[in-house]
Amino acid sequence: MRILVTGGAGFIGSAVVRHLINHTEHHIINLDLLTYAGNLESLEGVSDSERYCFEQADICDLTSLQSIFARHQPDRIMHLAAESHVDRSIEGPGQFIQTNVIGTFNLLQASLAHYTGLNETEKADFRFHHISTDEVYGDLHGLDDLFTEETPYSPSSPYSASKASSDHLVRAWQRTYGLPCLITNCSNNYGPYHFPEKLIPHVILNALAGKQLPVYGDGMQIRDWLFVEDHARALCTVLFSGEVGETYNIGGHNEKTNIEVVRSICALLEEYAPLKPEGVANYSDLITFVKDRPGHDVRYAIDASKIERELGWTPEESFETGLRKTVIWYLENKNWWQRVLNGDYRLQRIGASHEL
Ligand code: NAD
Repeated sequence: MRILVTGGAGFIGSAVVRHLINHTEHHIINLDLLTYAGNLESLEGVSDSERYCFEQADICDLTSLQSIFARHQPDRIMHLAAESHVDRSIEGPGQFIQTNVIGTFNLLQASLAHYTGLNETEKADFRFHHISTDEVYGDLHGLDDLFTEETPYSPSSPYSASKASSDHLVRAWQRTYGLPCLITNCSNNYGPYHFPEKLIPHVILNALAGKQLPVYGDGMQIRDWLFVEDHARALCTVLFSGEVGETYNIGGHNEKTNIEVVRSICALLEEYAPLKPEGVANYSDLITFVKDRPGHDVRYAIDASKIERELGWTPEESFETGLRKTVIWYLENKNWWQRVLNGDYRLQRIGASHEL
């Protein structure tokens, strides 16, 4: 199959592309604008495969999308391209509406036009898989309740509202036009190649530099963490075995308060990077509580029993094993994150791009 992955240079998209190239025989078209969050260096090792090609394009540009669809004739779409950072959505919501809502609308229109021109066998095989977040459900205030696929949408931030909008568009294109769609809503991801603005890499890199480790409010907000490679496997399971029109929640049953996460990272760094920056006695001494984010969700927790029951997917990593792997990865891959921190990754060359 030819699988068009949008956002394949991002954190989760690159894990999906690496998984598809390394574990399947499919051909991958990575469509990515390369915003600040896109990094082709996350694809080293798979980007020279004859089954991989890259298209630098904006999902908000319908004409570019139409020409990419015409050239590559994709069998399936995995849509991950998005603006994804909640803090940025609070500072500048416009780009989130543009990319996440208008961009998804354009991609749906390009996909529908392409789908309409397919023969019956090709139509039966076609899928539009929209990758979304558990943040569309808002937050939970009890300690036992979980988000299910039936939980009503109640987004809190401009980011989650824009993702909720895009989910609604996808459902409407399925219901109204018969485009065969799948939606997944996943909890917080972490792992290798995570952009340093996000909590876990930010804490690792600040600690190694002897800088403060900022924690919002009292740090008691609860997130449900999933190792990114488990998410990539789940997405491929849904793409190949999910039932058209269905939504699947994906999560790792790893609920942790933010302060627990930060303390766990400090403990792992004590173990793997005992030589600390000058003046730092313990990494945890760097923890600093800062003013809370407006509209900060209290707790997210996913009920992932549907994907487990119906498609047989379960996570392979616990939070403890996944976090350990992540900390070790950052210690062993300084070149990747140093090039992100000093901006050199923006000078990336597209490199070999094979005609599929
Ligand atoms: P990311 O910010 O790391 O990557 C986004 C990618 O999209 C980047 O490569 C960027 O260049 C590309 N992109 C942005 N705007 C584009 C445009 N207009 N046209 C083409 N490409 C564009 O994001 P991520 O963390 O990998 O998340 C991927 C998807 O998964 C998003 O849709 C996000 O909402 C969803 N999601 C993320 C998480 C998480 O914890 N990170 C959890 C659940 C769901």
